[in-house]
Amino acid sequence: MDNQLNISKLSNWGLDACTEPLIIAGPCSAETEDQVIDSAIKLKEFGIKILRAGIWKPRTRPNSFEGVGSIGLEWLKAAKKETGMLISTEVANVKHVYEALKAGVDILWIGARTTANPFAIQEIADALKGLNIPVLVKNPVNPDLELWIGAIERLSNAGLTKIGAIHRGFSTFEKSIYRNTPQWQIPIELKTMIPDIPIICDPSHIGGKRELLKDLSQKAIDLSFDGLMIEVHPNPDAAWSDSQQQVTPAELNKLLTRLILRKVKPLGISLDTLEDLRFKIDKCDDEIIRQLERRMEIVISIGKYKKENKMTILQANRWDSIVKKTIEKANQIDLNPDFISKIFKTIHQESIHKQTIIMNSE
Ligand code: PEP
Ligand code: MN
Repeated sequence: MDNQLNISKLSNWGLDACTEPLIIAGPCSAETEDQVIDSAIKLKEFGIKILRAGIWKPRTRPNSFEGVGSIGLEWLKAAKKETGMLISTEVANVKHVYEALKAGVDILWIGARTTANPFAIQEIADALKGLNIPVLVKNPVNPDLELWIGAIERLSNAGLTKIGAIHRGFSTFEKSIYRNTPQWQIPIELKTMIPDIPIICDPSHIGGKRELLKDLSQKAIDLSFDGLMIEVHPNPDAAWSDSQQQVTPAELNKLLTRLILRKVKPLGISLDTLEDLRFKIDKCDDEIIRQLERRMEIVISIGKYKKENKMTILQANRWDSIVKKTIEKANQIDLNPDFISKIFKTIHQESIHKQTIIMNSE
């Protein structure tokens, strides 16, 4: 399919700011002129060449900060003038595209909520016809590779060639340590299908917490991603949006200097790195905890039932059969029956404890 798409390699984008990896940094949202310029000056001092700031913020729920709007473009322009950095912002509709182009924005990105909407993407693609501005397409919020590729195709069909992808993780109903689970296999599959497309990782929106930035960034580098987009704010805790995931320019610099850059690996990267295995373990642990939570909810309902029906808490036969069944199951697979029996004894104790509280409540 890639032969239909004419996508330039990052090295042919003609960006002086092309470093390896490509680093785009700046606040989640432009808040004030001082905040934008202050961020830019500090980032520039640390050698960052591309500034990001959201002007129009698509928020999942209303009544949160929705961006300063077009005035923010003036601040980005001023930051560019002051520092010589390239500037980038998110566009979600035709009006945004025209205003950003008029303000001399160098790189546009399309947000995850917009990528999920082919009508919006088509309108943006039509508005960009005949231009060759770089456009970075974030993955759609849902883990749908086709939708992501569809957006890239629409832009490519409009004649754009400097098209990149941003991996910002995927929302899932299940709780996880990540704000948006990385599902690394999806961007890797994208790279397999469109080998020339540069892929930038956005560890800020994947992690949702600044503590996760470093490992996620290293993982992206290990998987041969072409760059990172990281949210940076002069005073992260006071940020008007995404405060928990932003870091100061100095913290970004520290993170970047600690990154271990690796030689480009051939495609067909193994996912079984220590970090990926740890990611899988974390997911298992999340599931175990959630299942225990569900089990305890049922235990509580049973406790209420027993109370109403004046039954005893301990129903010895029932418990014997549970223990037998779990040990039989453990024997069928490669799990030590003693280990399983210990775990279930602990679970049973906690269940009895919960039911005792219910029995003795008013
Ligand atoms: C952003 O980059 O600030 C943003 C809104 O991200 P996403 O579209 O990935 O949610
Ligand atoms: Mn953000």
